[in-house]
Parts: sequence; C-alpha cells; structure tokens
Amino acid sequence: MKVTDHIKKAKGNTLFSFEIIPPKKGNNIQDLYNNIDPLMEFNPPFIDVTTSREEYVYIEKEGLLDRKITRMRPGTVGICAAIKHKYNVDTVPHVLCGGFTKEETEYLLVDCHYLGIENVMALRGDTMSHQKYFEATKGGHTYATQLVDQIQNLNKGKYLHEVIEANHKADFCIGVAAYPEKHIEAPSLQTDLRRLKEKVDAGADYVVTQMFFDNQKYFKFVEAAKKAGITVPIIPGIKPIAVKRHLQLLPQVFKIDLPEDLILAVENCNGNKQVRQVGVEWCIQQSKELLDAGVPVLHYYSMGKSDNIKAIAAELF
Ligand code: FAD
Repeated sequence: MKVTDHIKKAKGNTLFSFEIIPPKKGNNIQDLYNNIDPLMEFNPPFIDVTTSREEYVYIEKEGLLDRKITRMRPGTVGICAAIKHKYNVDTVPHVLCGGFTKEETEYLLVDCHYLGIENVMALRGDTMSHQKYFEATKGGHTYATQLVDQIQNLNKGKYLHEVIEANHKADFCIGVAAYPEKHIEAPSLQTDLRRLKEKVDAGADYVVTQMFFDNQKYFKFVEAAKKAGITVPIIPGIKPIAVKRHLQLLPQVFKIDLPEDLILAVENCNGNKQVRQVGVEWCIQQSKELLDAGVPVLHYYSMGKSDNIKAIAAELF
C-alpha cells in the first residue's frame, strides 16, 4: 500500500515508522532482523531503507595504493523485498541520482515494481566523501526533481528511449526530502522551499524532513511550506542522540543546530549510557509535542540500532 494511503487510512492518527541502513556487504541480514524485530510491535505501516553512495577505497598492491570504487552497503532493493515479505510491511527503498545512470535507475524501478514495492523515496544523494560538491554521474540526474520526473514517466508507462511499447504502468508513490533548517547548498530557506515545490509539482506525493531537535523549526517550516503552496503530507524525521560525539557529528553531517538545553544536558552526562538516556527523554518530549500537533507519521532514524527507538515508541504508541 502507498504511504499516502496509509496516512489516509489512519484518519488523523499519527503512525510510527522508521528508517534502516543496509548492513555492510559481507554481513548477515539477521543483524538487521534483530534490530527490526523489537520495533514491529508498534505496527509500522512502512519501513525506509537507505541507499549509500559509492566511495573510493585504497588497496595496497606491491607498495603502491590502488584506488578502487566500491559500494559498501549495497542491496537496498533486496533488503526491501526481504523485509516486505518477512514482516508483511511496506518498504520504501531510497533511490538516488548520484551513482546511477538513468538506465540503471529504470532497471532498479522495474525490479521494485516486479517485487510489489509501491513506494520510493527520490533523492539526489550525498556528495561522495572525496568531493566538495555534488557531481552528477555521467548519464544520471543532477537534481531529485529530475528523478521524480523519471518515476512519474514510468507511472505513465513511459520508459527511457521509448524502445518498447509498454502495456504496464508503474504506480509508485513518491517521497522526497526537505530541510527545516535549509539544505546546505541552498542560498536561502525560501529558495530551498521553491525547489521543494518544484519536486512536489513534478509529482512527489509526500515529504520527509531531515532530522531536527527543535520542534519549532519543523512547525515554522510546515507553515512556510503551506504558504508556498505545498499541500502534501510533511512527515517529521527525528532521531535520539546516543553518544557524546553526536554533538559535533550531527551538525557536521546533517547541517543542523542543536538546542542549548540539549547540548548542556549531554555535556553534563557521565558516559554514553547517560547520554543515551538524555537522548531518549529529549526524543520522547519532541515526539509528544509532534503527536499533539497531529503530524501524520513520526519517522525515526534508527541508524541500525533499535533499543532507543523501542524505548521511545513504547511511551507513545
Ligand atoms: P535536491 O532536492 O536535488 O536538492 C539538492 C540541492 O539543490 C538543494 O540545495 C536544492 O535547493 C537545490 N536545487 C534543487 N533543484 C535545483 C535546481 N533546479 N537548480 C538549482 N538548485 C536546485 N542520502 C543518501 O545518499 N542516501 C539516502 O538514503 C538518503 N536518505 C535521505 C532521507 C531523508 C529523509 C533526507 C532528508 C535526506 C536523505 N539523504 C540521503 C541525503 C540527501 O541525499 C542529501 O541531503 C542531498 O544533498 C540532497 O538530496 P535532495 O534529494 O534533497 O536533493
């Protein structure tokens, strides 16, 4: 079922969902199941599975470093299919512009369609670790809007190059990303909102936000998005802080601010066990306020660990 249909079916009740990261290649999918199992009692209607960009690795060979390009966490679509059938839950593979040609994207979408996956999250993708700025892959898309266009074309039965007469249209429900604190590359929040409106006008059905730790940022963003004419559901994405290092890491990686009260509480912790507790309590308070505001879904970034998400969900769902 489509994410938007789950939201409609819930009739104003807030749903619980979460995002997982594929294990590094060579690892067992059982580790993933062990982290999903404890969260299934909260009835997530859908689970997101991220896709990682390819990266350079350096392999020593006869005293020289040989540079190879590799994807450390492949398997997003396979994992989506495995989870969908094991738990009878909808899954949302993240589909990226970066690292994929349009043809590869088409094949991936065809796989999703055959597997009965009805939702996809259309993203530009992160910059590769050695790059300062995002560079489009040769033959791929530059912006998520173009990816949304391609998916919408498949929904109309229009395949690339029009070499076949397609009888079957896909029917993907499309999610896109948004940034309550602005995307790092956008010259202003207003411009970023204009770009988001373009993604929605191209056919995105719903929006999921970058993580935030101050709900006012989300509320203001939703207000501004409505004023900009964006009427699709805007799902808040949130995450509990788990280790002291997150104070530096999260702002650096996700370009977000942390509230002073949260920073002080984490700084005063004696070890990461206490930090986890502070993170869980903060996230519960955030979630309660978002629930009271009637958000369609509370979407948690699990980052491959479920015990803190379980502690939060147990208070709310
Ligand atoms: P876009 O919507 O293409 O926007 C990128 C930038 O370009 C923005 O600054 C925007 O304002 C600007 N822009 C857009 N259109 C135009 C235009 N026509 N002209 C000029 N500027 C334009 N990354 C991964 O690698 N894997 C994942 O699985 C993943 N999952 C994510 C899930 C969520 C919910 C979120 C919020 C992010 C996720 N990301 C993921 C990170 C995302 O790929 C990065 O934030 C990326 O830098 C931007 O992606 P986007 O889809 O928002 O890009």
